[in-house]
Amino acid sequence: ETVHFGFQTVSATEKAQKVHQVFENVASKYDLMNDVMSVGIHRIWKDYFVKKIFPLHPGTNIIDVAGGTGDIAFRMLEGLDRQNKNSNSSTDDDSGSRKNTTILISDINQAMLDVGKKRALTMNLQSDGLSWLCANAQELPLPENSFDLYTIAFGIRNVTDVSKALDEAYRILRPGGRFMCLEFSHVKNPLLKWAYDTYSFQVIPPLGEVVAGDWKSYQYLVESIRKFPTQDEFKNMIEEAGFRSVRYENLSFGVVSIHSGYKI
Ligand code: SAM
Repeated sequence: ETVHFGFQTVSATEKAQKVHQVFENVASKYDLMNDVMSVGIHRIWKDYFVKKIFPLHPGTNIIDVAGGTGDIAFRMLEGLDRQNKNSNSSTDDDSGSRKNTTILISDINQAMLDVGKKRALTMNLQSDGLSWLCANAQELPLPENSFDLYTIAFGIRNVTDVSKALDEAYRILRPGGRFMCLEFSHVKNPLLKWAYDTYSFQVIPPLGEVVAGDWKSYQYLVESIRKFPTQDEFKNMIEEAGFRSVRYENLSFGVVSIHSGYKI
């Protein structure tokens, strides 16, 4: 069985190893590089993505898959704190707590999780309700029907077998649970596409070389985005996994898109 690693055709095991190597290489510079490459725009995409999950019911169980260095989970915690402040704690049963909401950050790469754990400490985040798990999105060591919300941001593109990861998402979500994915996607407008492609292929790898000393990882990043299914193809895949009310929304003209669906 062959799959794509960027523009290369490789075996499934080879892809898994190469992806692992990429994130091992970029872990320490990951956050900086995101800012440099996207001129900070990834922050806006992530803020927007996380805002969509609010308001949250007390006791929501969330899993953030391919959660890497905690970008999504930390935003969720901040959002929860904001939500709790706004709903001013006239009820004292949940004051100070995050209303029993739990967030499990899972990633296949321990190096990424380690950077995230360090960040949680330096950010002085009150980390109650936060936990970490090193696991493959294709086979999560978690019981079925156990989460209310599954998020994955800029992660599913890197998974060897995307359909398997979607099946796993479906399995671990409770009936009524929601799947939400933020991922690079495809720009349709020819002029914008040209500009975006030029930037991607001619600027990003050299930038990776200058800032992180790593041309190849960033070339993979650019290529893997091109190889990922289109908005509609990916929507179909999510439906094939069993999700209902599947929709997507383009951000920045389709540079990224948010796909979501429900397990009924
Ligand atoms: N979600 C974070 C964010 O938005 O900044 C990190 C995204 S990072 C581009 C992609 C992450 O996917 C990496 O941390 C990588 O280790 C993880 N990853 C790759 N393959 C995976 C798999 N099969 N299962 C779980 N995580 C995986």
